[in-house]
Amino acid sequence: MRPPSGPGGGIGRVKERMRPRRIGVMGGTFDPIHYGHLVTAEGASCEFQLERVLFVPAGQPPHKEPGTTSPAAHRYMMTVLATLGNPKFHVSRVDVDRPGPSYTIDTLRLLQAECGEDCELYFITGADAMLEILTWKSAEELLNEWQFIAATRPGFRLEALQAHLGPLWERCRDRIFFLQIPALAISSTDIRQRVREGRSIRYLLPDPVVHYIYKAGLYGADPDAMTDDFLYGCARSAGADAGAAAETKSVAEAALPSMRRGGR
Ligand code: ATP
Ligand code: MG
Repeated sequence: MRPPSGPGGGIGRVKERMRPRRIGVMGGTFDPIHYGHLVTAEGASCEFQLERVLFVPAGQPPHKEPGTTSPAAHRYMMTVLATLGNPKFHVSRVDVDRPGPSYTIDTLRLLQAECGEDCELYFITGADAMLEILTWKSAEELLNEWQFIAATRPGFRLEALQAHLGPLWERCRDRIFFLQIPALAISSTDIRQRVREGRSIRYLLPDPVVHYIYKAGLYGADPDAMTDDFLYGCARSAGADAGAAAETKSVAEAALPSMRRGGR
């Protein structure tokens, strides 16, 4: 289900130019960011003609016990690394820079003020998260004032969301759009557990983020597991040619011993 866009040609094109700018807002803990988030943001950006997508790592996620997530600085950095290659993706510090729980309603108000009233903000979220939206601060106001893009997996039951929203559903159904995406089975919880167990996390999230996790020793990662060959692979997959990747590898060879000693 897409939001309406003007018909092509003539007056339609003029209307299209006058259409408000659409900006996607992808909020999350991003501990760590993974391909589920990135595929969703890319799908939303293309399907809904979003001018850009703002990734907003939570400072203090309201639904998680304080102190149980990685420091916001790490989560912010990983989000920056993961999104660098896409000119439509940007990372906002609006939540990491303010104290207290990062309620979505406050985030959207701040971003709306930053982007201007002529912007339409689309909050991108997993459909599963939508099924808990009534537990969010000022949920009714959120649903009345902003658009939502809910990422679903095949088999998602719309009736479950209708039942959750009750009478609110009729009032806000025109502002909730659905986007079917693959890769939904990836989760940060699973990635953290894999790292703790020394299992591979490659191909679940971008290589530079994998590299960062090992370098920073997040989730109990063992920097010894980060071999120089792995770094060569990272550099190659990030677009470096063989010569530049070999250089990265030799820089890494020099850096690895101190990282292994804990000099992070
Ligand atoms: P955790 O397992 O720690 O809860 P997570 O993988 O759910 O992490 P979050 O940072 O909590 O990631 O999620 C941010 C947003 O991305 C939420 O709206 C969530 O519903 C959505 N999301 C999470 N994983 C996926 C996925 N694999 N595909 C699409 N959307 C996802
Ligand atoms: Mg989650």
